[in-house]
Amino acid sequence: MVQFSNQSSYIFVNEAYCINPTCSCTEVTLTFIELSDDGQLMNKLFNIRVDMSSWKVTDKTIFSKKTVADKMMKEFMDHIDEISRD
Ligand SMILES: [Zn+2]
Repeated sequence: MVQFSNQSSYIFVNEAYCINPTCSCTEVTLTFIELSDDGQLMNKLFNIRVDMSSWKVTDKTIFSKKTVADKMMKEFMDHIDEISRD
């Protein structure tokens, strides 16, 4: 779970790895979902696809307000080194 500085609510980050067994990519799709105060999954905010060998974003899909998603995405990428160490 991640809390962003510009958001009061907690964000759940779902990781989905490539499911194609013959594929050799190192990409993971992260889906950012806003949680309600009692921890229920609420709105899907955005997806980013990240190449784990370089930590570069290869694709993104925004479901919510673009300005909010852009800010959160940038903040997440600024801290991705810390997050990936967990
Ligand atoms: Zn793949």
